[in-house]
Amino acid sequence: LYLPVDLAIGNDVPADDRAVHYLRNVMRRQPGDPVVLFNGRDGEFTAEIAKIGKRGAALRVKALRRPQAGVPDIWLCFAPLKKDATDFLIEKATELGVAAFQPVITRHTTSTRLNLDRLAANAIEAAEQTERLTLPAIHPPQSLAELLQRWSPQRRLILCAEAGPALPIAEALSAFKTSVTFSNSPYDQWAILCGPEGGFARSELDQISNLPFVTPVGLGPRILRADTAALTALAVFQSILGD
Ligand code: SAM
Repeated sequence: LYLPVDLAIGNDVPADDRAVHYLRNVMRRQPGDPVVLFNGRDGEFTAEIAKIGKRGAALRVKALRRPQAGVPDIWLCFAPLKKDATDFLIEKATELGVAAFQPVITRHTTSTRLNLDRLAANAIEAAEQTERLTLPAIHPPQSLAELLQRWSPQRRLILCAEAGPALPIAEALSAFKTSVTFSNSPYDQWAILCGPEGGFARSELDQISNLPFVTPVGLGPRILRADTAALTALAVFQSILGD
């Protein structure tokens, strides 16, 4: 259970409304019942319900169960989709270990408004589900031009390029993995960029593909929906370069 508070062993910490609802109404937990807590930065702790009522709960932190573990530093840069598809993408990409989400407004992006609080709530549930101990950052949308202007060249950008002669993603990532020049760890900062349902404009693709920190990749011969493409790229990334 995610609780954004300090988790000092021996202390009673207050549960927020979401946690009280989950413990009381969903899990029907009572005082004395065990619960596992994380706050996104200090690891995972065993705890016990000290008090629980309609208005709140106090959880007694007992012991460190798992030290804090990170996730590979990979961002997902995606053009916002319709509400349900964006919710789905946030949930599944959090399960797949994304460290940060960067919504990007491209020429053919049709949905430009995002409810960042709702997306954060989806990410919390997905993190709890997969027992990851960090929450992904969810950044406000930026235009493609702004994003690329401020890009740090140490972060390798894997561009899902729906057209053109791009290397298959598995080949491109395997080549990074076996690169002898950088002793098997060519980069430790990564990002995947996928376009909107209408695709990138030709000029956008040309502009991005030519940047020195970009590797354009293909995801096979079929044109995938934007959410499928992003999740496919992430799954392949995690199977080849994830830890
Ligand atoms: N309207 C575009 C077209 O017909 O070419 C398709 C856009 S696709 C639905 C949405 C995004 O998913 C693309 O911008 C690209 O980033 C990614 N994508 C989809 N299929 C892909 C593939 N086979 N290889 C690489 N990227 C792909």
